[in-house]
Amino acid sequence: MARSTNHQHQVISWVTVDFDGCVAPDQCVPEAHGDITDIAKCSCGAVQKTNINRQYREIGPWEETAPAREE
Ligand SMILES: [Zn+2]
Ligand SMILES: [Zn+2]
Repeated sequence: MARSTNHQHQVISWVTVDFDGCVAPDQCVPEAHGDITDIAKCSCGAVQKTNINRQYREIGPWEETAPAREE
């Protein structure tokens, strides 16, 4: 079953965790490293990580995580 993910992701919840590495190697913002990471979650299961350190933000791409097989 192909699952369409062509929708505009919407944040329905998020958690804040300790910094755990670069989230946007293509658009790295080194100043944003080292403090915390926000993990936003969409209703479709995709997640987007943002590293935040003081006023700096490194915004990663939405990652469509493959849901565990439960159909
Ligand atoms: Zn989504
Ligand atoms: Zn980075």
